[in-house]
Amino acid sequence: MTLKSQPVTLKSKLPSVGTTIFTVMSKLAADVGAINLSQGFPDFDCDPALVDAVARHMREGRNQYAPMQGVPALRQAIAAKYQSLYGAAYDPETEVTVTSGGTEGIFDAVAAVVHPGDEVIVFEPCYDSYVPAIEVSGGTAVVVSLGYPDYAVPWDEVRAAVTPRTRMIMINSPHNPAAVILGPQDIAELARLVEGTPIAIMSDEVYEHIIFDGVRHESMARHESLRARSFIVGSFGKTYHVTGWKVGYVVAPAALTTEFRKVHQFVTFSTNTPMQHALAEFLAQKRGYPELSAFYQRKRDLFLELIAGSRWKPLKSRGTYFQLLDYSAITDETDMDFALRLAKNHGVASIPTSSFLYHQSASPVLRFCFAKKDETLQLAAERLRAV
Ligand code: GLN
Repeated sequence: MTLKSQPVTLKSKLPSVGTTIFTVMSKLAADVGAINLSQGFPDFDCDPALVDAVARHMREGRNQYAPMQGVPALRQAIAAKYQSLYGAAYDPETEVTVTSGGTEGIFDAVAAVVHPGDEVIVFEPCYDSYVPAIEVSGGTAVVVSLGYPDYAVPWDEVRAAVTPRTRMIMINSPHNPAAVILGPQDIAELARLVEGTPIAIMSDEVYEHIIFDGVRHESMARHESLRARSFIVGSFGKTYHVTGWKVGYVVAPAALTTEFRKVHQFVTFSTNTPMQHALAEFLAQKRGYPELSAFYQRKRDLFLELIAGSRWKPLKSRGTYFQLLDYSAITDETDMDFALRLAKNHGVASIPTSSFLYHQSASPVLRFCFAKKDETLQLAAERLRAV
C-alpha cells in the first residue's frame, strides 16, 4: 500500500502577523548595501573585558545548563542594582529571573497572566512583540493611541478602556519607537487607575539606562503600589552593547515570579551560562550603565547636529537609542514606501513607525537608530541631508 503524503494546513494563531519589520529592514539594508539605522543594535564592539570574562568562564568549564531562574551571582547583582538605584528590595531567590532576552521576558509575563478572553491594554505605537504575545495566549489587545507628535498618554482614554476583563497594562519607558518617557504625573495617573483592581503591569524598561537631559527614570520599582503588581523587564543587550547575546531579566514580586517561572522554564528552561557569569561581574562592579545615558546623549546630539538645516525635522528623543525624524517637508509618500525608497535609492535604512500602529493612520515619520560609530552617523547624515 502506498501512503499519500497530505499537506497539513494550519489555522494561524497570528493571521495578521508577517516577518518583523526589524528583520525585513535589516535584510534590505544588507541586500542593497544601505547604512543600517533600522534595527536597534550598536555597530561598535562591547568592552573587550566583557568578552574576556565570557571566555574565561568558558575555559573554566561553566558550559552546562545554568539554573532555570538564572545564575545566583547575576540575580544577586540585579537585585543589588534595584536596591541602589530605585530603593527597591527584590529577593534574588524568589523575585529575579534571568531570561533569554527582554522579548522572552515580555512573552513569559503575558503568558503567565493572560487567559483566553482576557483584555490587555497597550499603547500605540506599540513594540511589535506585545500584541502577538497577547493573542497567542488567547487574549485581546485593547489599543490606546498615543497622539503624534507628543505621544503623551491620554489617561482619560486609558480609564475608559478598562473593563472587568482587563488583566494587564503594558507600558514602555523609555519608549520604543517614540523615544518619550513617562513622568511623575503619568505614574500618579497609572497608580490611581489600577488601585483596587486585579490589573498587572508589564513594564518594559529595557532602555532604563538610556535617558537624556538629566531626567530620572520612573521605574515601576520606585513606586511601592505599582511595584507590587509589576513585571519589570530589563535587557543586558542594550546596556552592554551585546544585543546578540540575548540576555535579559524580569523582576517581580514573589507571587508573580512563581507563575512567571512556570512559563519561563518551559519556553527556554535557562539562559546561556558563561555570559551570565560575565555579566554578573560587570553588574556587581557597577560597570557600564552609570555612563550610558551620557554616552548616547552625545551620539543623539551629534546625529542631530549633522542633519541640522536639512528637510528632516527631528522630534524630541528623550530616551532609547532612537531618533524619530519627520519627513513631511520631503515627500507625502507613506512611511513604508519612503523607508523602502530611502534604503534603495539613498542608502539609509530606517524603520517605518506604522509597523507599530494598529488603529491610528501613519504619521510622516521614520525611526533611526543612533547606536552607531560616529563615522557611521556622519556618512548616514550626509546621505540624509542630500534627500
Ligand atoms: N528592539 C530592537 C529594535 O527596536 C529590535 C529587536 C528585534 O529585532 N527583535 O530595533
